[in-house]
This record gives sequence, structure tokens and C-alpha cells, in this order.
Amino acid sequence: MKKHISKNANFGTNSDLVFRLNEEVNQKISRGEKVINAAIGMLVDDENKIFSSPVINHLLERLVTKDSSKKYIKSDGGYDFNYYAKKYILDDQFDSIKSAYFVSSVATMGGTGALSIAVRNYVENHQKLIIPSIGWSNFGAIAKQYQLETLTYNLFKEHAFDIDNLLEICETSINESGRATLIINDPCHNPTGYCLNEEEWEKIIHGLNRLNEKGPVTLILDVAYMDFSDDSRLFFRKINEIKMNFMTLVAWSASKSFGVYGYRLGALLGISQHIEDYADFNQSSIAAARTTWSVPNHLMIDLLISLMQNPQYLKLVKQEFIDMQKLLSSRLEMVKKDFSFLGEILPYKAGFFLLYEVDDAIKVSEQLKEKNIYVLPLGNRYIRVSICSYVKK
Ligand code: PLP
Repeated sequence: MKKHISKNANFGTNSDLVFRLNEEVNQKISRGEKVINAAIGMLVDDENKIFSSPVINHLLERLVTKDSSKKYIKSDGGYDFNYYAKKYILDDQFDSIKSAYFVSSVATMGGTGALSIAVRNYVENHQKLIIPSIGWSNFGAIAKQYQLETLTYNLFKEHAFDIDNLLEICETSINESGRATLIINDPCHNPTGYCLNEEEWEKIIHGLNRLNEKGPVTLILDVAYMDFSDDSRLFFRKINEIKMNFMTLVAWSASKSFGVYGYRLGALLGISQHIEDYADFNQSSIAAARTTWSVPNHLMIDLLISLMQNPQYLKLVKQEFIDMQKLLSSRLEMVKKDFSFLGEILPYKAGFFLLYEVDDAIKVSEQLKEKNIYVLPLGNRYIRVSICSYVKK
């Protein structure tokens, strides 16, 4: 008998392990067990409830009953969404970036949808996707979905971002395939909490500009945790100061910023000096959206528009980001103390996670699980501990 084997069944990177662990936690909690969930990337308050903004909740309650939000919307999210998404993401750099570059955009199903579209459209079949040696496991899994191989750059050298290696790997890709497409997750890198500083960004932008003379360079900038950094729009400021000749695709996620993980909203922005890139982005990203999820979540599109059209609400939401940052730093010392037996953390500046390098990550995480403490092993070498969900109740 003919077997119906799907070609992508073996996606191999264990990229959904975190959701399986989370499910285990939820089952134990529903049985009345006391569990510490330091595995999942969701920010909870000290009562173990999703840290959700009162402003966002209020807007959602209003929108959910509106008939208009139940209707289909254009595949790209429509004019208003795209205008406000750019304004939200670029923030104080919006006007200057818009006058220096062409900025295109499309609504997506979360940050994951944005990354998926970017990889699908900007890595050719004969090319490899360039990803960090330590990073979100879904980067590799997305590449696999499109039958793409990956090239890996070394993330750290002597406790700092290994820029030299990143540029070397990009050069290798250009030599081998004529172009380079790389992912950088910044600020608040998952899983280390590293944030690139001004000098580092300058070096990267100059380096990628140089390489772009040899072959097209596309930077996919994953800003999922952007709003948890105190200098969240640094990259955009930098490309206002230093003219960027490569193309940047910005993958934004509403999940983390607004505490709406399950509702699914994101955007992909394309920033380039060339009008041809703008037109090409619009066509290819709408085609990718239309053939994957067809149209975005209209309710969430309306949420962003309503928020942006009400400056008072936006001000309150921005204040909440500061509260969230304070909550994370208040937990930091406790987490460091409780997990000091795992050794030193990798360089952390801000964000949801801490990362430890250990000898046998799987064994250690299993031992912790026996004590009802859930952490996330990354391969057998690292353990990620979520500060965002670390509540001892
Ligand atoms: N990028 C990174 C580094 C992440 O950790 C996540 C989620 O955990 C995402 C992107 C995508 O977020 P979402 O698809 O929930 O918007």
C-alpha cells in the first residue's frame, strides 16, 4: 500500500519542545501541583497571570463585539495598518527613515509569520540561511520547511558579539551563492538577553555595506523583544546616521509587546534605498501571505490602529513597557541566585531569558523537572531560564 508520508515530518530541531513542556506544566497545575514554569517565554505578573495591559484589554473588549473586525481584510492588512505598523515600529525614527529609505510592509501571523515570509522570499534555493550559533530554534526549523540549509555564525567571542565571524560567514555565502541573507535577533536576544550597542551596530552596518558591494545582502532583523530594551530603536537611529546600502527586513511581533501571545499579530517591514526593492517586497510578501494564511487577524489589525489613533492610550502602553522592564529586573537577582548552581550566565543586558552553559543540559533539566521546576534545554549544552515567567507561588 502506498504510504502518505509528508515531506516535512522530520523537522528535527525540537522547536516545539517549549510548548510541550508548557502543556505538562499546565496539566500539573490543573491537578493542583505547585510548579515553577521557567521554560515558556510569556511575561506573567507576580500572581502568575499573563502581564496584560489594561489599555489593550479595554480595546480588545470593545473590538471583539464589532462586526467590522469579523470581516475579511486585505491580505497585507490594509493601508491604515501598514501606516501605523511602520509608525509604531520605527517610532521616533519614523519620519527620518521614511525620508531616507523606501519602507514597505505587510501584516503577518505573529513574528513567526514575518520571519517565515522573509526566509521564503529572500533565500534562494541554492543559497543558505545565515543564523546565530545560539538562537531561537525556530530559525533553523523555518529554513528546513523551505528545504534550505543553514550557515551558522558564532554568536559570542570573549563575552561580546562575534562581529568578525558574522561578516566572514556572510562573505562565504556571497562567494558560494552570490548573496547573503542573515538573521540577527536584537535587542534582547533570545535566549541570552544580549543587546548590541552603538559601536557594535556601527561595525555591523559598515561591514554589511562593504559586503553588499560584492553581492546583495539582506538582513532579517528579528525585533520580537524590542519593547523590553531601554534603547529599543537603536538600529533605526544608526541607519539614519550611516547610510545603509543593503536591505533590511524587520520582523515584528505583537505577542511580546502587548502580552497577546495567542491572538497572533506581527508585521514584516522592508527597508531599502531602492524603489525596485519596495515594489518587489510588496508583490512577493502579499503573495506569500495570501497563499499561507490568506488574510491577517482583523481584530488584531484594528487593535493596533485603535491604539495608534489614541495618543493617550499609546502613552499608557509605553509606560507599561517601563513597568515590565522593572518587573524583569526585579526578578533577575532572584533567578541568578536560585540558579547559581548552574554556573555563570552568558552576557545578559535585558529581556525575558538567561542562558547557562552546562555539561549535560538534558539531564539537568530532567532533574529540575523532578522538583517541578521547568527550564528549557537547548541541545545538550545550554539551559534557558525564563525570568519572564519565574514566579515562586
Ligand atoms: N523571534 C523570537 C526570537 C522569539 O522568541 C519569538 C517567540 O518566542 C518570535 C520571534 C515569534 O513570536 P510570535 O510568533 O509569537 O509573534
